[in-house]
Amino acid sequence: MINSLQDMVTLHNGVKIPGFGLGVYKVEDGETVIHSVKTAIKHGYRSIDTASFYDNERGVGQGIRESGIPREKLFITSKVWNDQQGFNNTLKAFDASLEKLGTDYLDLYLIHWPVSGKFHETWKALEKLYQDSRVRAIGVSNFHVHHLKNLLENSYEKPVINQVEYHPHLTQVELRDFCSKENIQLEAWSPLKRGQLLNEPVITKIAQKYQKSVAQVILRWDIQTNVITIPKSIHEQRIIENADIFDFSLSNEEMAQISALNINDRSGSNPDDF
Ligand code: NDP
Repeated sequence: MINSLQDMVTLHNGVKIPGFGLGVYKVEDGETVIHSVKTAIKHGYRSIDTASFYDNERGVGQGIRESGIPREKLFITSKVWNDQQGFNNTLKAFDASLEKLGTDYLDLYLIHWPVSGKFHETWKALEKLYQDSRVRAIGVSNFHVHHLKNLLENSYEKPVINQVEYHPHLTQVELRDFCSKENIQLEAWSPLKRGQLLNEPVITKIAQKYQKSVAQVILRWDIQTNVITIPKSIHEQRIIENADIFDFSLSNEEMAQISALNINDRSGSNPDDF
């Protein structure tokens, strides 16, 4: 388990990723995303999660350059979108992401969704990018157990990460067990269920006890379940608040109470139906 904002988790290929980062989905390109990225880095964040689909890679790159922190001290993730999949298209999409970000390598590149009939070819392209040392680690996103099994049977490299929707209403027990057994690190998207979990009474009560916010308790629960998390905010106070979770810990009973809120409810699409 990580103990500070800059603590690292070692992936199965030996690469280290910060256990906590900033997400930038739905953050407008230009000033807004530049400000979010710079603000997060100023307050100690070192990992930024973007995607070609978010249409803000230029601003993310600008924010990184203006942050004053050297590129190699930062961990940048991007993803290949659904209509960019297939072997050659993925290689082109990767080049386009690098050009927009203004960097010559990525730390992590993910298949955004398991597009049926395409994701194997997409994965071959990611393997090539990895073997050519253009990306330090490769992984997937929104893969169910059956997608992972299928990929593992037909590939050379194993994904280091599976980034999926994960929060107290969607605790992904089967997927977590499978990934843990396979040494594939789970990473949580929409950890706050995009704001829809902030009035949950069980968590509110726990938050009052520790004089923390509901968001902080949820993000602490992520950390204590050994899931990497990347909450999004464009507001400085929330960017600070979300990372201020390393001075308290939840008891086993509180962890169980939060996990028991699971109702298998998604804020985004089901990977079998997108
Ligand atoms: P989150 O669960 O991170 O919630 C973000 C929302 O919560 C925003 O509206 C934000 O508002 C608000 N918020 C953030 N912090 C607080 C706080 N402390 N108190 C109250 N409200 C708060 O949702 P996301 O969907 O953005 O998920 C996080 C990241 O995961 C994304 O940004 C993206 O990088 C990644 N992702 C990946 C997907 C995939 O398919 N691989 C899919 C979806 C997301 P405000 O900004 O106004 O503060």
